[in-house]
Amino acid sequence: MSKFNTNLVHGIPGNENKTGAVNPPIYNSTTYAYPDTESVIRWDYARSGNPTREFLEKLVAQLENGDRGFAFSSGMAAIHAALSIFSPGDHLIIGDQIYGGTFRLFNQYFKRWNIEFTAVDTRNSAAVKAAIKPNTKAIYFEPFTNPLLHVTSVRKIVEIAQQNDLLVIVDNTFLTPYLQQPLNLGADIVIHSATKYLGGHSDVIAGVVVTKSKELSDKLYFSQNAIGSVLSPEDSNLIRRGIQTLTVRLDRQLLNTQKIVAFLQKRTDIKKINYPGIPGTSEHAIAKDECKDFGAVLSFEVQNIDVVKFVNNLKLFQLAVSLGAVESLAELPAKMSHAELSDTELLACGISPNLVRLAVGIEDADDLIADLEQALKLASNS
Ligand code: PLP
Repeated sequence: MSKFNTNLVHGIPGNENKTGAVNPPIYNSTTYAYPDTESVIRWDYARSGNPTREFLEKLVAQLENGDRGFAFSSGMAAIHAALSIFSPGDHLIIGDQIYGGTFRLFNQYFKRWNIEFTAVDTRNSAAVKAAIKPNTKAIYFEPFTNPLLHVTSVRKIVEIAQQNDLLVIVDNTFLTPYLQQPLNLGADIVIHSATKYLGGHSDVIAGVVVTKSKELSDKLYFSQNAIGSVLSPEDSNLIRRGIQTLTVRLDRQLLNTQKIVAFLQKRTDIKKINYPGIPGTSEHAIAKDECKDFGAVLSFEVQNIDVVKFVNNLKLFQLAVSLGAVESLAELPAKMSHAELSDTELLACGISPNLVRLAVGIEDADDLIADLEQALKLASNS
């Protein structure tokens, strides 16, 4: 069995065709001809199955070490399909700092279908255990949260889940299978917004789900085909292509992130850096134990700096939400990604108006640091 980097490129043979093309073809056909009415055919209709999409689905299943992968038209579509395996009356425990769109799906959509949830800080095992009810079916969380980089131990959640016969569903968007493989740590379902690191170029909206068991795969396939929010063949190919360079991109992003953190640590105008790569915190200890590295997203609070002026003066870091692509991005969570929260809610979450989040790209670290330095200088209050 080949290693991870080799599998990114060659894990699923792409040249099983008569042309010798080194990449798998893009099949746009929506329907497939039956030789005759009695025949059972492999492909019939492209919502139910498409060879280009299936190539990507097999690849992500292999990388996450799962039974089967499923590709969707967005991360939210993937989450919707995964949560559709539950029934009215079921209860789920969810991380209290999960992506806002996922929280909205629970709070404003699935709640209407009588699927209950309790939001807890999944770092706190006692709180997770206390939230379990007779109708609890699963724990859903993000091991690294946005934008504060709270770290939850997948192993600890799995332990609680196994004692109580619950499924563990992990949104692995921030870490990717390169940095953490939740199924290997005992989780049952892994989800990605493939829009982020898997695609890697800010040009495709996509999502994937990987299941651990045949039973869950059958349920997910039913959801995918019944709901129909499948990824198009063209976009499936773009995500496949993005995955080939996942580790090359991430290695650079991780290195750049380390250099940026070291730069920020030396400054008196940076108050608090949220990054699990910084030793001395419980977040660091868990991440060191369960992840290959600490990711390429960080956040920090500024002091004696006009935060709005600071981000507006960044030139290389573009002012934008999202993450995981080749270009570096900066955002103000209180004004951008978390703008729908009231001031009280922001405070309760620990998101200060002075919090800046960076998603680090693959540019030269020296240029990124010079950009931060110059923008801090222009925004200084002293
Ligand atoms: N999960 C996480 C952790 C995310 O950050 C996002 C989007 O930002 C999503 C899910 C939703 O994915 P998408 O935007 O591809 O629908």
